[in-house]
Amino acid sequence: VSSVELTQHFLDRIRHEDTRYNSFITVTEDEALRDAKAADERRARGEATPWTGIPFAHKDIFCTDGVRTTCGSRMLDNFVPPYDATVTTRFRQAGAVCLGKTNMDEFAMGSSTESSYYGATLNPWGDNLVPGGSSGGSAAAVAARLVPAATGTDTGGSIRQPAALCGITGLKPTYGRVSRYGMIAFASSLDQGGTMARTAEDNALMLNVMAGFDPKDSTCIDRPVPDYTATLNQPLKGLKVGLPREYFSDQLDGRMAGQVRAAIAEYEKLGATVQDISLPNTHLAIAAYYIIAPAEASANLSRFDGVRYGYRCENPKDLMDLYTRTRAEGFGEEVKRRILVGTYALSAGYYDAYYLKAQKVRRLIQQDFIEAFKSVDIIMGPAAPTPAFGIGSKTDDPVKMYLEDIYTIAINLAGVPAMSVPAGQIDGLPVGLQLIGNYFDEARLLNAAHQFQ
Ligand code: GLN
Repeated sequence: VSSVELTQHFLDRIRHEDTRYNSFITVTEDEALRDAKAADERRARGEATPWTGIPFAHKDIFCTDGVRTTCGSRMLDNFVPPYDATVTTRFRQAGAVCLGKTNMDEFAMGSSTESSYYGATLNPWGDNLVPGGSSGGSAAAVAARLVPAATGTDTGGSIRQPAALCGITGLKPTYGRVSRYGMIAFASSLDQGGTMARTAEDNALMLNVMAGFDPKDSTCIDRPVPDYTATLNQPLKGLKVGLPREYFSDQLDGRMAGQVRAAIAEYEKLGATVQDISLPNTHLAIAAYYIIAPAEASANLSRFDGVRYGYRCENPKDLMDLYTRTRAEGFGEEVKRRILVGTYALSAGYYDAYYLKAQKVRRLIQQDFIEAFKSVDIIMGPAAPTPAFGIGSKTDDPVKMYLEDIYTIAINLAGVPAMSVPAGQIDGLPVGLQLIGNYFDEARLLNAAHQFQ
């Protein structure tokens, strides 16, 4: 098929199906068909790469030159970036065809996509269930076959948890593997762009495009990028798998534990050896994250002041009124909660008690992983505590929502890469197995995921 036909097929699916799921904030039909035509011409000239003419979507956190980029917020409802994120540029250069921008929790703060200014996204697996978040639009769009692949970002689980809840495969790379330039910042020391698609192989193809050094992001690491598809078929014989005791405690739902253990038994059949390990500081991860991430967010979001770009309140009477009303009207409840917590944690007199302490805990958590990877190649566990939950069931209790991140957040604090891979179902709803790797070991994760699929 031609790229124009393929693109038209997915655009039709979006038009007919997405009224149900609300997985897209913006659909760029005209641009997509124009790019598809150009891709077909490029292919005819023999200049194609594996991505030339392939449709995909971007989470609406990646800046797209000339296409509105909202980050799920009223604050950026009218924001049309004059430049591309580096991730956007790389897909463009590969000839991929972007169909639009996917829904997300406002400023990526959330685990259900319910905090979006554009309304919740629904999980295609059930009635009135959340798709997870914050990259819930990307996950639902891939699961509903509205698009074959979509970008995501993961600050505390926002790729892996929605991938798990929607039954798709998602990868958060090592911090610094993918450029953050043009990716709207939430918590800069944790944010990392990554891949969401049906299979590990498709994730590998995406990472081939996304990974690599970028002089525009000072935390992006200059290190060769392997061909992630080249090692997918390596046998797993001798792979050393670690199971953290802390992830399999009696707090883990019994049926979830059963699914995850069944998946691990499959790995043993594929030649892996399994041992128990300990990540002793796991229980501190949520507390540390919910200081560090809001602290960084409070600084990053100070740029939305009604002066430079984005939302501005009507008829401000002076500068103070402009700031306060713009921010009061432009930000949603969860974003305000984070700004308040973060500002408090960073304020003089509380800095040592909260922020500094959280940073020390972060180092301990990182050391847990460094220590564990001295004896194992991959760590496995659940990606999320439960399958998809009902719309509205956690929105009135922020701490309940924060506990969704219990198996994913430590990974961001340490900066190591991790994936969620579909591993069976509970009551007809998908469950994710989490694979955690050592720094820059994405190829091994993708290999292990591919062998399992
Ligand atoms: N659920 C977490 C939060 O609300 C993580 C979100 C993310 O990874 N962007 O902060």
